[in-house]
Amino acid sequence: MTENSLQVSSIEFSYGRTRALNGVSLNVEAGRFVALVGANGAGKTTLFSIVTGLYAAHAGDVSIMGHNLRAETLKALGKMGVVFQRTTLDMDLTILQNLRYAAELHGLSRKDARERISEGMKLNSLSDLGKRKVAGLSGGQRRRVELCRALLHKPALLLLDEPTVGLDMSSRAGFVEHVRSLCKQYNTGVLWATHLMDEVNHDDDIYVMARGEIIAQGRVSDLLAAHSVDNVTDLYNLITEDNKNVVESGA
Ligand code: ATP
Repeated sequence: MTENSLQVSSIEFSYGRTRALNGVSLNVEAGRFVALVGANGAGKTTLFSIVTGLYAAHAGDVSIMGHNLRAETLKALGKMGVVFQRTTLDMDLTILQNLRYAAELHGLSRKDARERISEGMKLNSLSDLGKRKVAGLSGGQRRRVELCRALLHKPALLLLDEPTVGLDMSSRAGFVEHVRSLCKQYNTGVLWATHLMDEVNHDDDIYVMARGEIIAQGRVSDLLAAHSVDNVTDLYNLITEDNKNVVESGA
C-alpha cells in the first residue's frame, strides 16, 4: 500500500456565516505532486490554514505521515514544510541568518544545520548569495530561499500556497520544475495550490475546488482522457462549467 504524506478527511470550516469548506477530503501520496486548483475564494487558503494548524477545523481530521494533527500536533507539524502565499522571510536578515534561525527552530544540531543549509543552498543555486540581505533579492531568489528553508528538516510533506504569485513567466516555470525535481529526489509529497493551469502536468494528481468543495479529483491524464480534452485549461473550464450548470439548475 502507498503511504500517505497527507490525509485530509471531511473537513468543515466557516467564517461566521460564510461556509468556506464543506466536507473536503484529499490525499497526498509520498513523493507525488498534487495540484489543488480553484478560482479565487474556492477555499484553498482556508484549507492550507487548517492543514498548517493556523485554524482548527470545525469537523474532520488531518493526518501527516499518520500523525493526527489534533492528537499529535508537534509530530504532525514536524513532518511538514510550508511556503506561504506571502513571504515570511525576515527582510532585514541575510539568507544565511534566515536559514540558521529556521534550523534552530527545528532543533537541528549545529553540524546538521551547517550541512543541510550548505546542501540546500547548493540545490537552490544560492551558494554565492548567503550574505545578501533578503530585502535586496529578486522575487524568484526569495522563493528559492523559502523553499530551501521549508525543506531544511527534510519534511515528508511540502505545502505551497500559490507560490509563484508575483513571479514573471519564466521564473514561474523554472520554480515549479525546480520544486518537482527536488521533491522527487527527497520523495516528498507536494500539495501545490494554484489557479494557474500551466503549472499542472499530465502526470500530476489534481483536486479541483469550487465554493468550498472538491468537485473533481484524479490523475490529470485520466481526467483528460475521460473528458476528451488534451490540455489542463480546457479540462478545468469543462469541470468548473459543468459544476456551475449543476448549481444553476438546482440539481
Ligand atoms: P484565493 O485564490 O483568492 O486566495 P482561496 O481559494 O484561497 O482564494 P479562501 O481565501 O480560502 O479561498 O476563501 C474561501 C471563502 O472564505 C471565500 O468565500 C472567502 O471570501 C471566505 N473568507 C476567507 N477568509 C475569510 C475571513 N478572514 N473572514 C471571512 N471570510 C473569509
